[in-house]
Amino acid sequence: MSERRERKPSVGAPIADLRGPVGPGFSRPKHKRTFTGFGPAEIKNVEASIPEPLREAWRKYSASEFTNKEEFEKELVRHIETTLARSLYNCDENAAYSGTALAFRDRLIIEWNKTQQRQTFTDQKRVYYLSLEFLMGRALDNAMLNVGMKDAARDGLSDLGFRIEDVIAQEHDAALGNGGLGRLAACFLDSMATLNYPAWGYGLRYRYGIFKQEIVNGYQMEVPDYWLDNNPWEFPRHEITVDIQFYGRVKNHQNENGKVVHTWEDGEIVQAVAYDVPIPGYGTKTTNNLRLWSSKASSGEFDFQKFNAGDYESAVADQQNAETISAVLYPNDNLERGKELRLKQQYFWCAASLFDIVRRFKKTRRAWNEFPDQVAIQLNDTHPTLAIVELQRILIDEEGLEWDEAWNIVTKTFGYTNHTVLPEALEKWSVPLMQNLLPRHLQLIYDINLFFLQTVEKRFPKDREMLSRVSIIEESHPKMVRMAYLAIIGSHKVNGVAELHSDLLKTTLFKDFVEIYGPDRFTNVTNGVTPRRWLHQANPLLSALIAEKLGGHEFLTDLTLLDKLEAFVDDKDFRHEWAHIKTMNKLRLAKFIKSTTGHEVDPNSLFDIQVKRIHEYKRQQLNIFGVIHRYLTIKDMSAEEKKKVVPRVSIFGGKAAPGYWMAKTIIHLINKVADVVNKDADIGNLLKVIFIEDYNVSKAEIICPASDLSEHISTAGTEGSGTSNMKFVMNGGLIIGTCDGANIEITREIGENNIFLFGNLAEDVEELRHRHFYGDFQLDPQLAKVFAAIKSNMFGDAADFSALTASIEEHGDYYLVSDDFNSYITTHGMVDEAFKNKEEWLAKSITSVARMGFFSTDRVINEYADSIWNVEPLEIKD
Ligand SMILES: *Cc1c(COP(=O)(O)O)cnc(C)c1O
Repeated sequence: MSERRERKPSVGAPIADLRGPVGPGFSRPKHKRTFTGFGPAEIKNVEASIPEPLREAWRKYSASEFTNKEEFEKELVRHIETTLARSLYNCDENAAYSGTALAFRDRLIIEWNKTQQRQTFTDQKRVYYLSLEFLMGRALDNAMLNVGMKDAARDGLSDLGFRIEDVIAQEHDAALGNGGLGRLAACFLDSMATLNYPAWGYGLRYRYGIFKQEIVNGYQMEVPDYWLDNNPWEFPRHEITVDIQFYGRVKNHQNENGKVVHTWEDGEIVQAVAYDVPIPGYGTKTTNNLRLWSSKASSGEFDFQKFNAGDYESAVADQQNAETISAVLYPNDNLERGKELRLKQQYFWCAASLFDIVRRFKKTRRAWNEFPDQVAIQLNDTHPTLAIVELQRILIDEEGLEWDEAWNIVTKTFGYTNHTVLPEALEKWSVPLMQNLLPRHLQLIYDINLFFLQTVEKRFPKDREMLSRVSIIEESHPKMVRMAYLAIIGSHKVNGVAELHSDLLKTTLFKDFVEIYGPDRFTNVTNGVTPRRWLHQANPLLSALIAEKLGGHEFLTDLTLLDKLEAFVDDKDFRHEWAHIKTMNKLRLAKFIKSTTGHEVDPNSLFDIQVKRIHEYKRQQLNIFGVIHRYLTIKDMSAEEKKKVVPRVSIFGGKAAPGYWMAKTIIHLINKVADVVNKDADIGNLLKVIFIEDYNVSKAEIICPASDLSEHISTAGTEGSGTSNMKFVMNGGLIIGTCDGANIEITREIGENNIFLFGNLAEDVEELRHRHFYGDFQLDPQLAKVFAAIKSNMFGDAADFSALTASIEEHGDYYLVSDDFNSYITTHGMVDEAFKNKEEWLAKSITSVARMGFFSTDRVINEYADSIWNVEPLEIKD
């Protein structure tokens, strides 16, 4: 094994060095350009940073952005003819998409370069958002709207014979995430850019994003997602690479001052290569960066000895092994499985990002104690917790700082966001696994734990129980590293994502830590969504109507302005237009359903939607049992009674983790119920059941504006926040939900007359579970009828669903489906009654939207900036 090589970036090389030989036969450049460093105080704008001889060229270039339809068309045609090497005569929608994307990409890049230069010269504090998931969806529509050129593009494309919607639909979603956590990261990027915060996202460039879901005979099948083919939005930075070390061992030496120093030697090196994605803000020049790391065999690592010995296959296999690290996104939502490759992904990404951040800081030549004044790092869940250990390692082992000084810097730098209290989602890594993969980091974790436990012991002398409860190391077999505890100890702020969730953290999971650190380390920042994507982009008709009433689109950057809509609640014409837009959006979804499933649904029906990851805690099983109950009830009705029924379309969508068998069973049941109900002539349009395949961001954009009612019905106390609840209400849909996550704050904002709440409260859950456990369980009688129907093979072989019914009847009903069933169906009855009164329903819809101002990620990001990051915006003016 070779000596561990220095990690070396190949960035920032003086341009003069790259120019090659100058001598006879070589032309000499007119202006000799040398790298002059940066940061001189006199540089006031981006232009001033460009060396004088190049300024004129730069000025011309950066003024070359298209600003109208004609210029856009010219750019579009140029890209189709030259960049794509396609001719206009065989230009299809796909080529039109690529050409349009390239034209807009050019625009983003100009702003992106300016933003990055500006942020570098100004050199103020930056935020780094570390997330293993970024559920971005499509980029083109967003780029057109944020740049403010969608109308020009629509007209230009139309001149060439294309409908802009069809062109936009050519784009493949960037689906580097599972669900809410990944989408939150994407909404944050949009808000950080829109609010002009100097902010970078750091993630992994998975070759395969979340799998594509196909439904075959009612079962979920997983198909790989080849999203990278034809993706114009990323820029490979082959010159920005970091060598990442794994395995090996730690050696202790004494240095010349007699101090013990640790070196991490031998092992394997994998190279991280940067890929950059521009993130445009809305209505601002700020274009931030999302840097995704891709893994590659370290160039020196290709084994030429093996190769020369004729073992080509094995040399290539080693290479592929390295590339495996960034190959796949783990498809579990709220479940950790402790796989070594996952830990490798985490370290690979944390180490590459930290190297990059530290390198950028070191260029400023500031003292290390200024690091937390220049850098804020936010951990999206515990997945990047190793970044804490890695920074401590860099400061101590590579920069020679003393422990306390280094640790003080580390804890001031990091903030940690917790997303869940579900025990199966809390990350723990086995000590032997970590010892093998990251030996130096395990040592550091033990040291961090030792110093932490010493301070705890001083404050709580003789409380052995407390020490073992809060230890980072769980004394199990094997021992485990509790990542959430490490994240709390290494951060200056810990936040939950909705009030109830943050309170539960303080009173249950992290109770001891509140005692140790006091309550100030723990805070709440209730989630939001970006109104640009989830209102303006997803629902252009509603956005236009609101803009017309409020006299402009300012509400998109100050969502509290929506409150002015309340003045129009009683305006008949306005209500009429509001209703008309909802119908148009339902028609759009109906068309989509027809084209993807073949089913026809009537837009006059009540559209009742539950789309989100399939999980027992989110209780799609409660919903489908409710649907079966409705079906049985209608079947029992006389013709007279049927006339009073409000027609419904129950729409489901969402992926189950491939190994989550119970979730897959729920999908199977939904599809089997759909088969029976949809072809039952007794029922006709009174009830339809639809499962939308492969739920993702671009489908959510069609689905959210089309709901009358959406379901957010998790067992109380289990959902962190939920964000689709916000998307639906922002688009004028009402909610049926439990007192859980952000539903509680949505209720507080919009008023309890405008939401259908049901079910047991979080404070009662423990007691109910306890009672079930001790045999005090009676199946709800209405639910018993539903189970009897399932067991009569009404929806196919009952054996297929026995685990699902047994989990409730026989195994303690952990998610309280039976306890909440009566309240659920009664509340659905109230929904039906309310829907019959169209005028009142409209008033609820308009009032709710008017009161949703709080749930913009702009508010969320400003709260993080003020209370956790301490960063200021930086406007890009030139
Ligand atoms: C918003 C969103 C989610 C989160 O939905 P919840 O109902 O809050 O769990 C998941 N997936 C996609 C594609 C989304 O857009």
